[in-house]
Amino acid sequence: MTLLADSAVDVASAAPHPAQHTGAHPASNPLADARSQLAEAVGLLGYADGLHRMLATPRRELTVAVPLRLDGGETTLFTGYRVQHNFSRGPAKGGLRYAPNVDLDEVRALAMWMTWKCALLDVPYGGAKGGIAIDPRAHSVAELERVTRRYTSEILPIIGPERDIPAPDIGTDEQTMAWIMDTYSVNSGYTVPGIVTGKPIALGGSQGRASATSRGVTHVALAALAHVGLRPDRATAAVQGFGKVGADAARFLADAGVAVEAVSDMYGAVHRAGGLDLAALTDHVRATGTVVGFPGADSIDGAALLELDVDLLVPAAVEGVIHEGNAGAVRARVVVEGANGPTTAAGDRILAERGVLVVPDILANAGGVIVSYFEWVQANQAYWWRADEVEARLEERMLSAWGHVLGYAEARGLSLRTAATALAVERVAEAHRLRGLYP
Ligand code: NAD
Repeated sequence: MTLLADSAVDVASAAPHPAQHTGAHPASNPLADARSQLAEAVGLLGYADGLHRMLATPRRELTVAVPLRLDGGETTLFTGYRVQHNFSRGPAKGGLRYAPNVDLDEVRALAMWMTWKCALLDVPYGGAKGGIAIDPRAHSVAELERVTRRYTSEILPIIGPERDIPAPDIGTDEQTMAWIMDTYSVNSGYTVPGIVTGKPIALGGSQGRASATSRGVTHVALAALAHVGLRPDRATAAVQGFGKVGADAARFLADAGVAVEAVSDMYGAVHRAGGLDLAALTDHVRATGTVVGFPGADSIDGAALLELDVDLLVPAAVEGVIHEGNAGAVRARVVVEGANGPTTAAGDRILAERGVLVVPDILANAGGVIVSYFEWVQANQAYWWRADEVEARLEERMLSAWGHVLGYAEARGLSLRTAATALAVERVAEAHRLRGLYP
């Protein structure tokens, strides 16, 4: 598959491909969406084709074969990727995803969004993303450890605390980060805590990192509700995805007074008018592995959750779930994108026409990379901050970015997504211009 297109027009699109993602909508094509968002920002900023192509194209891409010796003795093979989209503003930074249908185009899109997110929140990183096309639920812990260590050793030449710093994403967690840190450190001959973020606290992880994305989602969700004149204690919400981002976002929203009436995971959704008992639901998920069957609520179809009559919708699962086919049926007044790329370009246009306020992923879910940055700073200085310090700095950065994006959007009559992307792209282009082109 070629990435470079012959003209700026081609750079703005990617050939549609069938449902090859993590459970995302069949028509979703994150790379096409990411490129069309960039094209819109570039059009607004009036950049030339050459700069557009530079911004649309990853600096470096690595595809690796990852052999795994299964517990039974036989050997199997997976494909892994690491894409470094841009490092004009600092080392590349981005998560690592384990899901059956991860592919290079999905990783390219996620890496591009990381570049904009880091620039928008003014953390000194470029964007990267990694993935292995593997279903983590189908493997033992020992197999996941071996596959993680082998993948790490395959991408070792391009990662490092000053080059590219992985973090958790779908299907990976702090244990995955601990294995990466150990593999990298063993190969270096000394301990390198700054190689990953999202590590266990016992290994130099940051207070507040595990819940940072969800806290950030909650900060901007409450700001967005206030912006449209809704008080949290009179607002209702639905959250899609009950993983690292969705579960805590639901909890923090409920703590703020919002009635979280529905949540879902890849197996189904549950609904209770007036609000779910999230502590009991969390116990149920711990015991059964899914929200389905929770006795304190009604079962509903996963897709129906997106169309519930609630004030706030938080998609916090996978790409492409709000699309041409269902955006017209979304009844929420505010959509806050906990996931990366949950709204397709066509879905976005429909939501905008209908006056739904969409807080875009690169702003809404940036809490994770902000506290990842704090973790990296702490690890590099070997000096750790208290949880309340981390949380105060996170809130300050989220709300300042929210205010900045809102002001930029209102001054120019733009959507929050176009404003956020344009602000971010401007910062990356400025860094690129100041550094100049070598040679
Ligand atoms: P996770 O693996 O912890 O959880 C994913 C959740 O989504 C699970 O509950 C899963 O069952 C559910 N899910 C998957 N497909 C679904 C579908 N089709 N419908 C409904 N639910 C579905 O992953 P996570 O870390 O919570 O990531 C979720 C999203 O947030 C991803 O888009 C990720 O890129 C983004 N994100 C994560 C972080 C982070 O810090 N973990 C930071 C920024 C953005």
